[in-house]
Amino acid sequence: MLNTGVSPARTRSDAETRYCLCRLPEYVTVIGLDDTDSRERGMCTTYVADRLAARIEADGGRVERRLLVRLNPGVAHKTRGNAALAVHTDLGHERALELAREYLDLAETADPKTNPGVVVAPGDPGDPDAIPDAVAAFAREAVRDYHDVTDAALLADGAGYGTVHAGNGRGRIGALAAVGAWRAFDDWTYEHISYRERGRWGTDRDVDPASVRDAADAAYPAVWDTIDCESGYPVCVPRTPCPVLHGIRGDDPAAVRAVADDIESEPVARHALFVTNQGTDAHLRSVDSLAAVRDGRAYRVTGDVVTAPETREGGHVFVRIGDGPSDDSGGGSGADSDTLACAAFEPTKRFRDRIRALRVGDRVTACGEVSDGTLKLEKFAVRELVRTESAPPKCPDCGRSMGSAGAGQGYRCRDCTTSAPGKVERPVERDLEVGWYEVPPVARRHVAKPLVRGGFDAPTHPER
Ligand code: ATP
Repeated sequence: MLNTGVSPARTRSDAETRYCLCRLPEYVTVIGLDDTDSRERGMCTTYVADRLAARIEADGGRVERRLLVRLNPGVAHKTRGNAALAVHTDLGHERALELAREYLDLAETADPKTNPGVVVAPGDPGDPDAIPDAVAAFAREAVRDYHDVTDAALLADGAGYGTVHAGNGRGRIGALAAVGAWRAFDDWTYEHISYRERGRWGTDRDVDPASVRDAADAAYPAVWDTIDCESGYPVCVPRTPCPVLHGIRGDDPAAVRAVADDIESEPVARHALFVTNQGTDAHLRSVDSLAAVRDGRAYRVTGDVVTAPETREGGHVFVRIGDGPSDDSGGGSGADSDTLACAAFEPTKRFRDRIRALRVGDRVTACGEVSDGTLKLEKFAVRELVRTESAPPKCPDCGRSMGSAGAGQGYRCRDCTTSAPGKVERPVERDLEVGWYEVPPVARRHVAKPLVRGGFDAPTHPER
């Protein structure tokens, strides 16, 4: 059953309506919605949002944009990618709420894990604070932290927003975050989503991989993460029973559309362009000390490699970084608050070779979500590379390595009479360069920023 909480829309004078200072200049109402799909039963909140947008247009309203916001990837009860949606429209608040209620009926509420929510914000083009600071802050925290549904409901109510929900209404968290997102974030990308005919939902998708590859090649780098070049895997085609046929991501709306148009496939039932925080690293927070890192959040942290990389069962590669001086023993207690385990899991494929190439003493910046005390690497930057290592000196006469002459007695050549006081520094060959490395497209998280987008503080080594 749907629950509706409608607060009266704020009224505005004609004078206020005429001049426009706000961050939301061209529309009046923002409809946020979330949590409509089910892992087992399919559906997709982008689809519900697009159907709602089409209904608004049929009702005479104008849809300014569809916003697809990825929230904290660490949230346990997400169905897949923790997406929330917002539709920006000039439709009146009351009518928008009515239509949203209708479209929430598309939600897979038969699945007890689906708890949809809608939040409708009556924007005010004359008011620069139409989306209040507190709602923008809520959106930022929803991407980087955790919220309680009660807080979402109270904040929505206090801001004068209408809400609708079913089940436990947890979807109101994402819905309110989607309302605040446009004010909260500055970096936006695009996804052009093509949807399947209803009768095909849940069946294998018929998409020609060669046409995906050709279209992706032609549009790179404006369009990214369409295909994983090395494996040939079409990243843009989901494997879930949802209505999406393919989603094309990039920085240019015309380019993502063109790639979608060039893909040969089963019939496309409908398509829509979403403005999105995908590919922006909006989830990463910086901390001064590794001791401040907490599970369930994602970070950008800098430290020195303190243990040699280790490949464990399953092909996962682990390395530990620390705030303090390197531990040359390679031990790494694991319990220290100033060290952090970082992992490149098997699905990150060739990225693991980059981690294996690290050495104790290298300085790196690691990015990823922390869970069970381990940072799951999405990308990392090499800041400084160890270029030399200590080694026994070579005999100047025969060229062979000298052996230890006993504790505290330096080194001696067994065959010649030469000796040396201690180890010497010798250059080491490195397979890494200073700069950013990333997981391949096949292992990319929705919100993680691909290096090809630029704006990084060091040279980049993009994967495609
Ligand atoms: P869908 O396609 O349905 O949106 P999804 O993978 O995005 O699937 P949801 O089914 O929406 O996941 O489930 C995520 C739930 O978590 C939603 O109810 C949402 O309101 C809630 N949620 C999102 N971000 C947070 C957060 N930061 N703290 C607490 N709850 C959150």
